[in-house]
Amino acid sequence: MAGSVKAVVAPGIGMTSDRTRARMVERLRASGIADQKVLAAMLAVPRHAFVDEAIASRAYDDSALPIGWGQTISAPYIVARMIELLRNGRKLGKVLEVGTGCGYQAAVLARVAHEVYSVERIGQLLEKTRARLWPLKIRNLRLKHTDGSLGLPEAAPYDGIIVAAAAAAIPQALLDQLAPGGRLVIPVGVDEQQLMVVERREDELMKSVIESVRFVPLLEDTA
Ligand code: SAH
Repeated sequence: MAGSVKAVVAPGIGMTSDRTRARMVERLRASGIADQKVLAAMLAVPRHAFVDEAIASRAYDDSALPIGWGQTISAPYIVARMIELLRNGRKLGKVLEVGTGCGYQAAVLARVAHEVYSVERIGQLLEKTRARLWPLKIRNLRLKHTDGSLGLPEAAPYDGIIVAAAAAAIPQALLDQLAPGGRLVIPVGVDEQQLMVVERREDELMKSVIESVRFVPLLEDTA
């Protein structure tokens, strides 16, 4: 019995090994990701464990993958790029992620920030993700089923807020929940989307446009 299980699992093993992940990290470096802490976190988190087994062999390709409920896990490059922009070389205290999805980005964030809060609007997706994250015992990650376009006031302010879905306009609540010096990384737009960074300075918000991106929409309310 055990033998037959092994035979089924074996073909995928090469694609989900540490070596495959190391190659992914080399590609990230070649694509311009320079933050060592981000690269180390991407090397450590087993991306294949966050998608269904049927597509685990594609986990280290540089592409987005389906995670159910019409949602996708972002490609490795965009995850790395967004966290690099969020960090901007700083030590991160408290971070909020909007759009937990399969929990992959949250797991990477938990390795670069002291404390991570991640919120998801789809209850069933979040329950599946909770079950998947449980054995990983990530002690500095808190999940909540709520509409993240309102942020998460109970733990605000945040040194960084990262949004994994595209907003038609930047939600005011997220700007309000940024600590001084804090950074918001968010895709903005409906058809044409741009990745934007907003930094809270003394009395002003500094906005910059980074690059064109493609994300699922940020929706209001919970499901
Ligand atoms: N970071 C995720 C990416 C998931 S895709 C990962 O690593 O898998 C974006 C997610 O944002 C989806 O799961 C979607 O349901 C969620 N989402 C969209 N609008 C939201 C909102 N207003 N509040 C919370 N989550 C939202």
